[in-house]
Amino acid sequence: MTWETVIGLETHVELSTATKIFCSCTTEFGGAPNTHCCPVCTGMPGTLPTLNEKVLEYAVKASLALGCTVTRRGRFDRKNYFYPDLPKAYQISQLYLPIGRDGQVPITWGDGERKTIGIHELHMEEDAGKLVHDPWQDLTQCDYNRCGVPLIEIVTEPDFRSGEEVIAYLEKLRSTLQYLGVSDCKMQEGSLRCDVNLSVRPAGTSELGTRTEMKNLNSFKAIGRAIDYEARRQIERIEEGKRVVQETRRWDENKDATYSMRSKENAQDYRYFPEPDIPPIELSDGYLDHLRAEMPELAEAKQARYQAQYGLSGYDARMMTGEKALADFFEDCVALGAEPKNACNWIMTQILRKLKELGAEPGRMAFTPQSLCRLLALVKEGSLNRNTAVAVFDAVFETNGDINEYVKANGLSQVRDTGLIESVVSQVIGDNPQSVSDLKAGKEKAFGFLVGQCMKVLKGQGDPKLVNQLLREKLEKL
Ligand SMILES: [Zn+2]
Repeated sequence: MTWETVIGLETHVELSTATKIFCSCTTEFGGAPNTHCCPVCTGMPGTLPTLNEKVLEYAVKASLALGCTVTRRGRFDRKNYFYPDLPKAYQISQLYLPIGRDGQVPITWGDGERKTIGIHELHMEEDAGKLVHDPWQDLTQCDYNRCGVPLIEIVTEPDFRSGEEVIAYLEKLRSTLQYLGVSDCKMQEGSLRCDVNLSVRPAGTSELGTRTEMKNLNSFKAIGRAIDYEARRQIERIEEGKRVVQETRRWDENKDATYSMRSKENAQDYRYFPEPDIPPIELSDGYLDHLRAEMPELAEAKQARYQAQYGLSGYDARMMTGEKALADFFEDCVALGAEPKNACNWIMTQILRKLKELGAEPGRMAFTPQSLCRLLALVKEGSLNRNTAVAVFDAVFETNGDINEYVKANGLSQVRDTGLIESVVSQVIGDNPQSVSDLKAGKEKAFGFLVGQCMKVLKGQGDPKLVNQLLREKLEKL
């Protein structure tokens, strides 16, 4: 039998506001345990939450960018459960009236395959704290710094059929939220976290199978592998005549397998009710118009513009706009006078290669658009040939060292001194009489050999055009 995998995603995104959702504590990542907290975010009796207006603004902008209908009259709800990382014993979230609903996110993957993923809802909520387990001392400690950090949770329809589609969606989501400036989406710091709901069914049927939810997925690679593993596990169970149990499973990256954590709760287990401490939210036309006017140019609009304005190919435009930091870098280079296609080529080949080598991100590199432009200018004016330019780039990239100084200190400038090249040409001709007579006898290959000998004497720094020209001239006179 052929099986179809059906996947839906719940993505939690930390918003990059300076302060928490219901108090004025900092949202900064890290910090000594329990130093970014106050009576409100640690749930002391008698304290009252106040909604951070920036959180609402970011959630509305994200809803608009993901094509959602914005809820004009909304409110928060209380989700009740006890867990040591949640000192209030409830989380303020949105169940009945999420801020955004019914969105669409178009995705592209593989060889240009496309589809649109439905967004079921987008809601605001507060994050919980962190438990730090210490196996050596056999104890667990609570760090409440993360309590009350603002989150949006984005829930898709079960529209994905493969891991590839899921990753294309997450890349699109990350890029969109970064362009909007509402989140840095750093997976390694937990500001983008993903739960995967997965079920399988015989291909061609429309009824959904029993799903499991996978948590603890902290990289795109882990998500792809967990999806493959879990789909295989469910198919094997069904084919063996067993049942798939609705449960939450944990992905263990070291063992490449998922493990049962607990049976899945339903909404009614949480005894949701409208949050009584926060007044309902009402959004005016003027407020929404104002936010719409503030929306920046997003990746797809940029791609179209790069193709039309700079003549980039569709693939190149997609690569340049995948991450906001890279698009900013490219646009800065163009603003500084770099030829757009040339700048794009250098970014695609050299910068992306270097970032991959170092395992670094575009947003964190020291190398600046100014440095790339200086390098391109040296190549253009003929002071550096391309190979030397790449060597200079490799040497200065990590620390953004001074390019002119490096070239000077290492004597790398291309030699274009006619007198010097002429004397080298004469010397090489004198040293290689056999090649000269071969050339006279019509063996054109000998010319290449002589050029190579000249370049060797010039330590690879001769201007190749000039060397060719002066050698030709000298040989003709013989
Ligand atoms: Zn606080």
